[in-house]
Amino acid sequence: MIPSAFKFYKPNSIEKAVSIMKDFGDEARVIAGGHSLIPVMKQRLTDIKHLIDLSAIKELKGINISGKSISIGAMTTQVELITNENLFKSAPVIREASLQIADPQVRNLGTIGGNVANGDPANDMPGLMQLLDATYKLSGTNGVREVKAREFYEAAYFTAREDDEILISISFDAPIGGYAYEKQKRKIGDYATAAAGVILNVDKGVCSSASIALTNLSDTPVYCYEAVGLLTGKKIDDNLLSQVTKSCVEQSDPVADQRGPVEFKKYVAGVVINKALKRAFERS
Ligand SMILES: Cc1cc2nc3c(=O)[nH]c(=O)nc-3n(C[C@H](O)[C@H](O)[C@H](O)COP(=O)(O)OP(=O)(O)OC[C@H]3O[C@@H](n4cnc5c(N)ncnc54)[C@H](O)[C@@H]3O)c2cc1C
Repeated sequence: MIPSAFKFYKPNSIEKAVSIMKDFGDEARVIAGGHSLIPVMKQRLTDIKHLIDLSAIKELKGINISGKSISIGAMTTQVELITNENLFKSAPVIREASLQIADPQVRNLGTIGGNVANGDPANDMPGLMQLLDATYKLSGTNGVREVKAREFYEAAYFTAREDDEILISISFDAPIGGYAYEKQKRKIGDYATAAAGVILNVDKGVCSSASIALTNLSDTPVYCYEAVGLLTGKKIDDNLLSQVTKSCVEQSDPVADQRGPVEFKKYVAGVVINKALKRAFERS
């Protein structure tokens, strides 16, 4: 189908983009890679009268690493996340997860900002950003504010972002320890049936800190606080990892859809979580 008529804007600064959003409110929408937005426009599931292309705003692009602090511009593409060697050295889990997103065509245009701002529970980056305890920087008519990724997601496609706000960047500290991002999908290029990210910091066999987040196992990404509590301070063995897996699965809340019924999804969740825990432990 063909989208309904809209006016197209290509501002070269964040201020200009925010001012267009202020003028047109709910009728305006920013576009990044367009992979999620263009299909819904073409199906006329959304009626956007003013489309604001962010691609000419230089401040929204790039990966900055200073010591352990990492900041990624919202318009940075997934392929840039994969090919940046310094990012790989500081946070290798990003490459591991990004390589499991869709296919090269999608990753060439799809941006980290569009992926996390969309609020799609099937997207991998929201869970990944919870894993890394990332902070999102948003700019709107009331200025700039920061929101933790773990507090950003309210329901499927509903986030803490206000209508007049643009996501500018995502920042986090380089993670320490072993890592893994495990994803089960029906076929190459598909979204996750279930996916899990794990970071484990282990000292003489004892877990000193951990992080675990799940993708597409609820209407928002799931951060497994209880499971992290079970792991921290304990000597790691297969029995503990099974208990931790069980706790994560209990926290998940998937819905039945074309990827399978709830019981199947919970089973797959257990498999990917346990694999991710074991691989992160091996790498720690
Ligand atoms: C066939 C296919 C398979 C896919 N498989 C996967 C997968 O397995 N895993 C995965 O994680 N993703 C997957 N994706 C999603 C893809 O990776 C993109 O990240 C996603 O479509 C959104 O990124 P985008 O840059 O294209 O955003 P757009 O489509 O341009 O925007 C998406 C939404 O976010 C808003 N937005 C974009 N940027 C900003 C910003 N800076 N500030 C505020 N709001 C903003 C837009 O207004 C829009 O509402 C898939 C996509 C396709 C088409």
